[in-house]
Amino acid sequence: MLGMHLMNYPLLVHIEMLSAWGYLIAGTITWITANGMLLIYYQSIRIKLSDSEKRFRLLAENARDLIYRYRPGNKPQVEYISPSAIEITGYTPEEFYADPAFFNNLLQPDTQTSPEAAREPELTSPNALLQWRHKKGHIVWLEHRSTPFYDKHGNLIAIEGIARDITDRKNAEEQITRLEESRRHLLSDISHDLRTPMTSIQGFVEALRDGVITDPNEKKKYLDVIHARVLGINRLMRDLFQLTNLEASQTTFNLAPVPIDVLMQNIYDRFAYEVKQKGLYFTLNNVSSFSDDTINGKAVNQKTPRVYIDVGRIDQVFTNLIGNALKHTVTGGTIKIGYTTTPGQKEVAINVSDTGLGISAQDIPRVFDRFYKASKSRNSAIGGSGLGLAICKELVKQHGGRIWIESNPGKGTAVFFSLPINQS
Ligand code: ADP
Repeated sequence: MLGMHLMNYPLLVHIEMLSAWGYLIAGTITWITANGMLLIYYQSIRIKLSDSEKRFRLLAENARDLIYRYRPGNKPQVEYISPSAIEITGYTPEEFYADPAFFNNLLQPDTQTSPEAAREPELTSPNALLQWRHKKGHIVWLEHRSTPFYDKHGNLIAIEGIARDITDRKNAEEQITRLEESRRHLLSDISHDLRTPMTSIQGFVEALRDGVITDPNEKKKYLDVIHARVLGINRLMRDLFQLTNLEASQTTFNLAPVPIDVLMQNIYDRFAYEVKQKGLYFTLNNVSSFSDDTINGKAVNQKTPRVYIDVGRIDQVFTNLIGNALKHTVTGGTIKIGYTTTPGQKEVAINVSDTGLGISAQDIPRVFDRFYKASKSRNSAIGGSGLGLAICKELVKQHGGRIWIESNPGKGTAVFFSLPINQS
């Protein structure tokens, strides 16, 4: 337009009154053009800015790490927190925005002193390992990197940070430490458990060899003790070998579906004599009384769930559990075996309980550890290797089940283990 207007100039230059208008129109058009160009320039910058903001926001929104900007001070505020907060902390970004002191609420109670005092040194240190409490209650380990921002007076005005959830790594590290510790214990336990019977065998053999014992009855007693010790060492070696193989998944399982009623009845029949011999009562619970099918000559309720098991290995679990119940229950007591399941459930819970001495609360979490004996003195007399429950745990685990203990010291113990129901 300006060009077309300027082309008129040579024609209008002699008409004096029009030349002023000509300049005015030219000036106006130039002014409009300049403004238009400015607007276009600002618009293109705005688009570029919003594009790059979108890109960065996308990065932050999709990041698996927690990215945030926090403003401390009298009115602390979370200015930005990425959506990964939901997965890592269990809380939504909105919850962080709504409660300015939210960061402090996530602190473990024992490290929470005064809100700001507790948090800021950790948040402003460039690299820190933080522990936060997840909404569900568990502890989350965070590897935290941050950049603090200060005003010209040196006051902290903002903290920007990235926190990575390293809970899995931390747990794995702890597990490695535990394994390392358990390996050390294992070696010292094996040498201890071997040395004790060996010393006694040595003593008895020397006494016999030196002719100190002449009475044939005494000699027989000594030989019996030696025999018992050798059996104990053999048992220890066998258990240890089996446990090592189980833990290394080097044991093969011949799995077959077995109706739970049949399994329980067989176990009951197998142990009834031994239990009664020890002067204890033995009962079988929760087995369906009606039946309309037979397997191996046993009456079976067709609706009875079937468990997919290696019968020999599960038999061994019962042997260990009932063996323990026998060892720790005095004459006149009762041993019960049974199972519970409800329609629609995917597993049966089998139990072996006794009315024996029980296990104290502090021992319960450790009785599944290798070589753990709740009471050393009591057990050395009874002669356990301390491996029985560890083996049971591995055997049950390899069947896809779990094992746990409930006990009331002085009243008795109940060991439960679950087995998945065969759905086919
Ligand atoms: P052990 O071969 O010594 O019996 P286990 O691994 O089978 O080893 O058991 C570990 C410890 O747990 C035992 O030494 C015993 O103190 C305790 N324990 C296991 N079962 C029972 C039970 N039914 N009643 C009381 N204590 C038990």
